Amino acid sequence: MSEKHTHDVVIVGSGLAGLRAAVETAGRLDVALISKVFPTRSHSGAAQGGIAAALGNEEPDSWEWHMFDTVKGGDYLTDQDAAEVLTRDAVRAVYELEHMGVPFNRNPNGTIAQRAFGGHTRNFGEAPVKRACYAADRTGRVILDTLYGQCVQRGIHVYPELSVVDLLVRDGVVCGVVALDWATGALHVFHAKAVMLATGGFGKVFKTTSNCFANTGDGAALVFRHGFPLQDMEFVQFHPTGIYGLGVLISEAARGEGGILRNRLGERFMERYAPTIKDLAARDVVSRAIMSEIRAGRGIDGRDFVYLDLTHLGKERLAERLSDISSFVRIYLGIDPAEAPIPVQPTCHYMMGGIPTDVDGRALDVQGRPIAGLYAAGECACVSVHGANRLGCNSLLDLVVFGRRAGRHMAAQVPSMDLTPLPSQAEAPVRERMEKIKERTTGVRPAVLRERMQQEMMERCGVYRTREGLDKALETVRGLQEECRRNVFLDYRGERYNTDLMEALELESLLTLAEVILVSAASRRESRGAHSREDYPDRDDQNFLHHSLVYRDGDKIGVAAKPVSITRFEPKPRVY
Ligand SMILES: Cc1cc2nc3c(=O)[nH]c(=O)nc-3n(C[C@H](O)[C@H](O)[C@H](O)COP(=O)(O)OP(=O)(O)OC[C@H]3O[C@@H](n4cnc5c(N)ncnc54)[C@H](O)[C@@H]3O)c2cc1C
Repeated sequence: MSEKHTHDVVIVGSGLAGLRAAVETAGRLDVALISKVFPTRSHSGAAQGGIAAALGNEEPDSWEWHMFDTVKGGDYLTDQDAAEVLTRDAVRAVYELEHMGVPFNRNPNGTIAQRAFGGHTRNFGEAPVKRACYAADRTGRVILDTLYGQCVQRGIHVYPELSVVDLLVRDGVVCGVVALDWATGALHVFHAKAVMLATGGFGKVFKTTSNCFANTGDGAALVFRHGFPLQDMEFVQFHPTGIYGLGVLISEAARGEGGILRNRLGERFMERYAPTIKDLAARDVVSRAIMSEIRAGRGIDGRDFVYLDLTHLGKERLAERLSDISSFVRIYLGIDPAEAPIPVQPTCHYMMGGIPTDVDGRALDVQGRPIAGLYAAGECACVSVHGANRLGCNSLLDLVVFGRRAGRHMAAQVPSMDLTPLPSQAEAPVRERMEKIKERTTGVRPAVLRERMQQEMMERCGVYRTREGLDKALETVRGLQEECRRNVFLDYRGERYNTDLMEALELESLLTLAEVILVSAASRRESRGAHSREDYPDRDDQNFLHHSLVYRDGDKIGVAAKPVSITRFEPKPRVY
């Protein structure tokens, strides 16, 4: 038996994208907000560095410069109509957050303080500009808490610790979801006029990642399994500075505040790779530079990491501006960053790809038509403002700008929409899947398959890729999918808080997305942004200045091209 609920709208995910959308619909629609983790534990709360907006509080800035940086940073795969919406709306969005109660750091004159960040420049690439608004190095945490408070105040109906495990689709119309309640093991069927997915990223596909455990991409995987496309999935951002061996993030704010990357010889090697903005070049450029230093034997002690040097910033500045990351380094490495450099290596950080949407958050099919009843926003979506490589501080902005727009569109459209009847036996496919797993008493544990997938993806689909490596990884991942289908078993088969079952279901999402990433990466025979093919080292605008769509076509996987919107900035070679 399952419990049934009916709401106007179901929002899945309570990071900043889901919360911002919920705030917008409050009082106008009956909304259910479902989240796998308690809302304030969503990964948005881990965001450290800041949120970008051309407030111009520190020095002159403009939304056009911000838009240019976003397009250039995205290696010209950014949809420029969407980037214009993002950067024009940024200033309003940040002041709105301020008015809701977000405690940003301030200048002595009371204005919101801003700092430098990778790829943020003035006058179309001339020199770095201070554009990141921040609250020390816990910007995401304070925005998440503020927006959650706003949802509570507005009486949003939250269903915490329920995982959505299926999307309900009837005659091409999305009309609800099936969710599993971790506390009881019961299935819940949610019937709604519209479903919005805001399930975040899926860094857990890779071994070394800055992402939290919940980032398994369930929403994107469900969309794909139901035959809808995913866009630009080959573009996986590796952040240059993860703590060595752990992947925990050291925010770019550390370099924004003056931190310097050094190799074994003590050289500031970024001077060679990006002479103008050096350590503040875009993330893909810095990650590749680090990997090149390591490959040339200039990693520290010849090993696979370099140093991030903050020692010259002084104890006081570290305590005031970078206190959280200083404490991570002290706790995890036993190092005081004021006295010794930090060992770092690239860590999987952000997915540029996801569910294709328009600027109102409507999810799109392969032909680019809105899918009835389905919205998406945030990291699980691809609108696409980040193109082939996201700039730091543009994700938090994307969440609040496009989360709000999706909420606004739903508030306007949903009241006149009908409730599509549910498919019969809505929860039967999920129940069958779960029972099959629970019936087995021997086999392989989900964690074993997950580790093999993560290792393979890291090795063959990381910062550098080749055709041969991608083919090999695809074979491995398909083998793991088969093993997962036939052989996964659980040590614990009970109903309450069955985290073994959670891992098995999440593994299905991760393996689905790993395959999509590999297929997408193999089909893009060029290097652009975060996608770096050693066998095709150059960007090829002639053949690949387009988005990739990957979708399920019966038993096969289809790949299609989708045009990029170019309105203001013609593609130019990327020079730093
Ligand atoms: C360590 C770190 C630091 C970062 N720093 C910055 C920064 O300084 N500036 C910046 O702009 N960006 C930053 N980013 C990126 C940014 O934080 C993320 O892209 C963003 O927070 C994603 O937000 P979201 O709302 O899409 O989803 P998330 O905040 O990831 O939330 C996902 C939500 O979906 C729910 N969910 C997932 N699956 C299911 C399911 N099956 N059923 C029900 N609910 C589900 C989860 O419970 C959660 O509530 C950082 C990222 C990381 C990892």
